[in-house]
Amino acid sequence: MKEILVISGKGGTGKTTLVASFARLAERAVLADCDVDAADLHLLLKPKVLQEGTFYGGRKPQVDLERCTGCGRCTELCRFGAIEDGEVDLIECEGCGLCALGCPEEAISMQDHLSGHWYLSETAFGPMIHAQLEMGEENSGKLVAEVRKRAKELAEEKGEDLILVDGPPGVGCPVISSLSGVDMALVVTEPTVAALHDLKRVLELCRRLRVEALVCINKFDVNLQKAHEVEDFCRQEGVEVLGKIPFDRRVIEALSEGKTPLEVPTGVGGEIEALWQRLSERLIGAEKGTAKGQELLREGWTRRFVASEPRLSEMVKMYEEAGFEVRLEPPSAVEEPDEEGEECQRCRICFEGQEDKYRVIFTRPRRDPRPREEEP
Ligand code: SF4
Ligand code: SF4
Repeated sequence: MKEILVISGKGGTGKTTLVASFARLAERAVLADCDVDAADLHLLLKPKVLQEGTFYGGRKPQVDLERCTGCGRCTELCRFGAIEDGEVDLIECEGCGLCALGCPEEAISMQDHLSGHWYLSETAFGPMIHAQLEMGEENSGKLVAEVRKRAKELAEEKGEDLILVDGPPGVGCPVISSLSGVDMALVVTEPTVAALHDLKRVLELCRRLRVEALVCINKFDVNLQKAHEVEDFCRQEGVEVLGKIPFDRRVIEALSEGKTPLEVPTGVGGEIEALWQRLSERLIGAEKGTAKGQELLREGWTRRFVASEPRLSEMVKMYEEAGFEVRLEPPSAVEEPDEEGEECQRCRICFEGQEDKYRVIFTRPRRDPRPREEEP
């Protein structure tokens, strides 16, 4: 089972839009929304809740008013100004328990506190685990862990191989909770000074947690100069920029209607699809193929399939008309025979002796032919 996490250094970079689009493209996946402080994946995927549960993220004091004498000792002890002569402010309270320890009447007991809810839902693209913190609650790292645990259990129960996670923004506790142990993280960024700063922090966190990170630059053509800076930085850090998605106003209109960019005609659908293909190939199949085959994947090429004429020419024409560059390679140059014979699509035994007839089709989105624009 593989787990892909999509995160960003700050909110509003298009992370959730991408996850919702990937959910449409993934054939089978369990979806998990770990952005529990501002969950909005459900706005695009419109889940139908099948099951709901409570989440107790900590303990808070409960005062037995019949025993309380109003002595004020709890108020003196509390460093957070959260209790006034036996009356608790649950939002300010950090649950440290000092008041309960210090109450001379033993009138205070620490009780499990309801911090949020988790949900198991069905969407058009697969089951989804999501959650919502109660107002003012801060235990989102624990709730993220709960969502991931339930998503894993669900994937095991349903025999699914992929968990697609919408992560929280930033580098705080919920992000660390989301990142720990995932197979790969796609970091979504934008071509701005602030986003590059945040990207550096997120990539550093990925490095510390030993999670392979890949980058997607969203709205890259809004500031081409800054987009190049992001690419240069990633190159220096040895992090691959797996995709660059242009700005398209129709995406905003689609989102305002609760739709993904794949559900309406936009100029970004092909880019998102190509990004997803590269991401899933990196996750599942990057270890397969010759050194040259893997190099092509790193250069942004997506392996499609093997074909001979006349199908080969038809597909090349179709991909070119759809806006892709096409590259053809002999199977022996990019494929390695699968000794176990399990991966028919990647095995080349059938082609031996007549390799000249077959080609592996690789595509990648055609580069923008326009010259670089000056920074606005
Ligand atoms: S310390 Fe105990 S008895 Fe004193 S005011 Fe607080 S709750 Fe009441
Ligand atoms: S549990 Fe700690 S923070 Fe909460 S009221 Fe008691 S002393 Fe204050």
